[in-house]
Amino acid sequence: MALPPNVAAADFNAALAAWRAAIGADWVFTSDEDVALYRDAYSPLYGEPDERVASGAVAPSTVEQVQAVVRIANQYRIPLYAISTGRNLAYGGSAPVHSGSVVLDLKRLNRVLEVNERNAYALVEPGVSYFDLYEHVTKSGLDVWIDPPDPGWGSVIGNALDGGGGWTASPFRDHFGSHCGMEVVLANGEIVRTGMGAVPGAKSWQHNKWGYGPWVDGLFRQGNMGVVTKMGFYLMPRPEAYVSATVQVFREADIVPLLDTLNLLENQHVVNGSTSLFGGRIDAAAPAGAPAWSVLVPIYGPEKVIRAQLEYAREKFAKIPGAKFIEGELLRTPLSDEALKRVRLVNFGIPNLSTFGMLGRSVGNPEPAGGHIGFSPIIPRTGEALLEYLRFYREYLPKVSGGSNLGIIGPVYMTNWERSLVAMIMFPIGRDKARNAQMRKAFREFVALAAERGWAEYRAPAIFQDLVSDTYSYNNHALRRLRETIKDAVDPNGILSPGRYGVWPKHLRKT
Ligand SMILES: Cc1cc2nc3c(=O)[nH]c(=O)nc-3n(C[C@H](O)[C@H](O)[C@H](O)COP(=O)(O)OP(=O)(O)OC[C@H]3O[C@@H](n4cnc5c(N)ncnc54)[C@H](O)[C@@H]3O)c2cc1C
Repeated sequence: MALPPNVAAADFNAALAAWRAAIGADWVFTSDEDVALYRDAYSPLYGEPDERVASGAVAPSTVEQVQAVVRIANQYRIPLYAISTGRNLAYGGSAPVHSGSVVLDLKRLNRVLEVNERNAYALVEPGVSYFDLYEHVTKSGLDVWIDPPDPGWGSVIGNALDGGGGWTASPFRDHFGSHCGMEVVLANGEIVRTGMGAVPGAKSWQHNKWGYGPWVDGLFRQGNMGVVTKMGFYLMPRPEAYVSATVQVFREADIVPLLDTLNLLENQHVVNGSTSLFGGRIDAAAPAGAPAWSVLVPIYGPEKVIRAQLEYAREKFAKIPGAKFIEGELLRTPLSDEALKRVRLVNFGIPNLSTFGMLGRSVGNPEPAGGHIGFSPIIPRTGEALLEYLRFYREYLPKVSGGSNLGIIGPVYMTNWERSLVAMIMFPIGRDKARNAQMRKAFREFVALAAERGWAEYRAPAIFQDLVSDTYSYNNHALRRLRETIKDAVDPNGILSPGRYGVWPKHLRKT
């Protein structure tokens, strides 16, 4: 059995005994076999001495048990790492950021507490997956949609807390942005409810997210200030219909009017679906006659309304000389069995796992690495910025990869985030240590090169969270210092998820 760092064996044993008494011996895991289940299958350090690993795990089943676990950890100064379903593949899996932490596994808090069709919201516990919530909604015959990310097995809360997103309409696909109200266990074991939830007998916890006074919910997004035990989310009333169009432009420079038009339509809320932008890869030359860029513009809503929205969008895109507007099929919901076979299910609120086929074995990729991590810088949503990024990528990918490109894929333009653009580059990760080392080096170089140009990432794999946090350095890291001041105040012993997203407690801080 491994010990958490800086914890004496006697203290760890006393904490384990106290946890066993509080939640039952069956739910305190210390054997190598059990603890290995919390390894990150996509770790870029897999099998190496620096791989981030847990020293144990505890799995309470109620909020009271979570409080007890946290109080005991606080008493013995044992670092905990809270996970919901722990399927954070590509960003650290269920392994802790600070090696040797004990994983606080919340999978057993798995109740859907409420789904309210009338006001279109849900209140869930951390162990509720997208599959669970979908099953609850469909079995109860409720006329609302959920918004799953590509992997449907993740947690509605865990995904939101890591800054994740999905693929239906705005604003629902920004998962943290569309939450409403939280319950949090603090490091001292106290429970806080945010927003209207702070009113005893609150009647509108999931109706109004701001409540009264300074809003603290943001501290728990990519944060380590508390353990979230309940969270509310706005749901989308089932839209009657969906229509989309593909817009193609034929010169690389046409990305400028293409994105300006797209931005206008999205900011006017005429286009509300998750748009997908294609083009601008490393191999610059498109075949003759092929579009330089194409964008898919989906619209959800009542049929007669979305027909008018589509016409408006057509008029706006027609102002780009040479642009082609190809209208897609209009689909009415619920989708027919036949339509279900043709669509990307997550765009219709249906969780699934088909995304794992993306990097799997295929004719074009007979020896897949096994996993990936993503370098995901946020860049401005303008054609000029995107072209600058593309020039940067084309120049530096060969340099950073020693001319071989290393199987790095990208950029994948994520226009599903409103207002900004994430230009993701995917690095294959597997069990080949030499190759993983090349990926880590390339990743680090991209972070530094991007930061020199004013770009930084929105989310990062656990082993690079410090590196990316370093790039948010305005005024001598004033933002990080503010976060550290708050961390020291709410978690003085530094037991909750030390190091998550670059926020370390005082005793572990590198100056
Ligand atoms: C092929 C592929 C496709 C993907 N597609 C998407 C996608 O479309 N959208 C997307 O967002 N992601 C995507 N991901 C990334 C990731 O797999 C998902 O975001 C996944 O939902 C995260 O895992 P989880 O839901 O189990 O969260 P968890 O692993 O449970 O939580 C994530 C992190 O949040 C913190 N946390 C969790 N619960 C709590 C809590 N209760 N209190 C305090 N802190 C907590 C922890 O630090 C934890 O590590 C993809 C990954 C792969 C490999």
